[in-house]
This record gives sequence, C-alpha cells and structure tokens, in this order.
Amino acid sequence: TLISASLKSGQLREGLEPSRGGEPAAAAAETAEGKVLVCARCHSLRHYGRVKHPDAERLLPDFDFVAAVGPRLASPSGARSLVLLLADASDFDGSFPRAVARLVAAAGEAHSADWKHGAPANLPRALLVVTKLDLLPTPSLSPGDVHAWAHSRARAGAGADLRLAGVHLVSAARGWGVRDLLDHVRELAGARGNVWAVGARNVGKSTLLNAIARCSGVVGRPTLTEAPVPGTTLDVIKVDGVLGAQAKLFDTPGLLHGHQLTSRLTSEEMKLVQVRKEMRPRTYRVKTGQSIHIGGLVRLDIEELTVGSIYVTVWASPLVPLHMGKTENAETMIKEHFGLQLQPPIGRGRVKELGKWVRKEFKVSGNSWDTNSKDIAIAGVGWFGIGLKGEAVLGLWTYDGVDVVSRSSLV
Ligand code: GDP
Repeated sequence: TLISASLKSGQLREGLEPSRGGEPAAAAAETAEGKVLVCARCHSLRHYGRVKHPDAERLLPDFDFVAAVGPRLASPSGARSLVLLLADASDFDGSFPRAVARLVAAAGEAHSADWKHGAPANLPRALLVVTKLDLLPTPSLSPGDVHAWAHSRARAGAGADLRLAGVHLVSAARGWGVRDLLDHVRELAGARGNVWAVGARNVGKSTLLNAIARCSGVVGRPTLTEAPVPGTTLDVIKVDGVLGAQAKLFDTPGLLHGHQLTSRLTSEEMKLVQVRKEMRPRTYRVKTGQSIHIGGLVRLDIEELTVGSIYVTVWASPLVPLHMGKTENAETMIKEHFGLQLQPPIGRGRVKELGKWVRKEFKVSGNSWDTNSKDIAIAGVGWFGIGLKGEAVLGLWTYDGVDVVSRSSLV
C-alpha cells in the first residue's frame, strides 16, 4: 500500500533502520503535488515507531488510548470530541475496541442527569463503524438487522450505558457507506471538534481513512501530520484537509487485542486466517460424540443433545482447513495433525507456543433447523452458527486467553 505523507525533510531518514534480513529498503518518491509518497513500511515507522513487520508487531507495546487520549475527551472548556469506534464485520466481538467504548460510556453515565435535552455539548460522542461489510454474505442479510445486531453487540462489549450517536456499516474497499459516514462525522464534529478514529490492528482503519479523505475531496491521498499526545511513545496522527479548517481528525495507533487469536500468529499464519473475500458458510450435520476442528486453532465438541443431530455452520477463512470426526480421536488429532494437516499453527513447534488448550462450555437451545439459534464466536478466527430444535451442550476448545462468546446469531 502506498500512502502519501507530508514528512518534513529528515524525518523519513531518521525513522529508517538499516535493511535487515533481506527486507527491501523503504521507497519514497515525490508526487506531482510535491508530497512524499511512502510505502506502508515507512508509514508504519511514522505510525507505530518502527517497521510494521507482522511478526514483530505482536511484540509492540499496545497503545493506551484510555490513558493517552481519555483526559482530552471531556474537557469542560474543550472542543467537542467524537470517537469513531471501529469494528471488523468478520470479527466483531474480537475487534470491537471495548476499553475505549467503556470510557465513552462512563463519561456519558457520569453526566446522565444532563441528557434530558440531548447530549451535553462537552461530552464525548461515539459512532460505531462496522468495517469490511463486503466480507459478510450481504445478499442474505438485511442492513437493518446487521445494524441492530451491531448496536447490541457494541452494548454487550461496552456495557448498556454506551450511547451511540449512530451506527455506520461501511466497506472502504467497495466505497459503501463512506459518504454517509463522512457527512455524519462533519455534522457531529461541528466547526471545531476533535475526531478520534480508534480500532484494533487490522480493523481496516487506514483503508477507511484513505477512503474518507478521497470522498472529502482531498486530492491524491490524505496528508498525515504528527499530532503528539503527551505521554505516548506511539504517534497519534492528524489527517489534514478532511473536516474543514478547524475541526480535526486523528488517526490513533492500532490497538493490540491479546484476546484475538490473530495477535499470536505469525505473518504466514495470518495470511491463512484473515478473511479477504465474502465469507462462505461450511455446514455440517453432527451428532453427539462428534467434533469439528477449525485448523489447529479451535475445536467444537458436540457433548450432549436432546435431539438426534444439529447443524453447525463454520464462518471462517476458506484457507483454514476444517475437519469433522469423532471426539474420541481428538487427542490424536492434536498430537499428530496440529501444525501439519491442521494449519495454522504452521509447524509442530508452534502448537505449544500458542498456549494452553482449554475448554469452555456452552448450552444452546433453539426451535428451528432452518435458522441459526446462536453463534459461538472465537476472537480473531470466526464463528460457529448453531441451528437446532432442542438443547445442546457444546465444548469449545481453543488456546487460553482467547475470547469466546455466545451471541445472537448474525446470519
Ligand atoms: P489497519 O491496521 O486498521 O490500518 O488496517 P488496514 O487498513 O491496513 O487493513 C487491514 C487489512 O484489511 C488489509 O489487508 C486491507 O486490505 C483489508 N481491508 C481494509 N478495509 C477493507 C474492506 O473494506 N474490505 C475488505 N474486504 N478488506 C479490507
């Protein structure tokens, strides 16, 4: 990805490290508009303070938005603040920036008495922005349902006190919803507001900000300038020219979510797990004593059923192989096939590195085979849609510390 950034002379050189391990040196070129065009790696140097090498990225410190930006959100005399809470449609619960959302909810709660006539002027407002909508099987979904579903999942992540000024379903890749989002952001920011875009790493924030800038009429790519926030070692970057003369849009460093399995994967493993095209369902009819594996990352055991069989639909990257078999063979699968036929992890040695393999129990009940009753979502990987007429006890196995939630079904 090429991103143009207005770098003061010397900044680019300053940030560069000697090329290591055969990595190409960063390329920079002057564009017709006189801006410097830099590669994503250089952008990362500015943005994350070092090379965005996916393997190294796992080791980068997290950006503490709450500590760094929190105090600036609700200053009594300050300009209006708007937080864009970005969540990836293909991994909503895993990617939703819940700590930041809780901060916004807490600020609203502290002033709940003032809400009678709408949001008090100096309180931070929030918009939920669901990114990569094109990854969902959109023809079979109604936008209204996705909208309501996303709203309720955001409240589940942040607490019911989260008051959203709106929910936007967007695809920066397709240009869906970008214009509406920009109009709404401009309206909420007013003449002098500060807008903060917040999201987990890989949520699609850079792609969206580029799309917003294009939509706002910024010629070429947006101009990124540093906006140092005291106490941070990672940069918050001001995106110029998008909101008008005095309102400001800030891009913040991607949050590291340790509870997303992707945060533990190597770049090669990430390539297999990350969803790039519209998701396609893979459905199994399963009975008690059977298990479904998603690569060597997740296993769902059908432990008890009040009916003969249930339908389990896997929503995950098509590059991750699935395996359905008897639960009694599951131990053998781990010992002999994890890291080999069942990838990721890639390589036997990586299995232990991903952590301890732990079980979480879910009880699901439903009254139809045609529609899914519940989803069981695994942060960073995808989800199982469960369709059943009756009750089921399911055992979900994955690596310790990875978030697994049961939620109302999306599809
Ligand atoms: P950031 O780390 O949040 O800045 O995320 P990026 O903007 O770098 O995007 C992460 C990955 O998601 C990249 O591979 C993008 O190509 C992809 N991506 C971003 N936006 C979209 C989108 O709207 N649709 C799809 N399908 N992929 C997207």
